[in-house]
Amino acid sequence: MRKRCTDNCPGIPERGLTTQTFERSGSPVRVTIRQIPAAVCPVCHEAYIDRETGRQIDLLLEPFHGKHKQVPPLPPAEVAIDFQEAVAALKAA
Ligand SMILES: [Zn+2]
Repeated sequence: MRKRCTDNCPGIPERGLTTQTFERSGSPVRVTIRQIPAAVCPVCHEAYIDRETGRQIDLLLEPFHGKHKQVPPLPPAEVAIDFQEAVAALKAA
């Protein structure tokens, strides 16, 4: 875990949860993922997500945003995913 947020911010990120919304150009689907484990800065609220969590986020986004240059043909939609539940479901599958 990092010691300090950025050179411009004195905050020290703490373990917490964050919500992020992901959009991809070419895709009409907006995906909001809640309860993502992250180190969150108490001063500026910047969230730092580790590599493994980022990989899981990519897996969750793939059905909606596709992979590489391919975007799946989907109708415009807003999707909300609970990170913890979704990762548990992926592991069970
Ligand atoms: Zn900060």
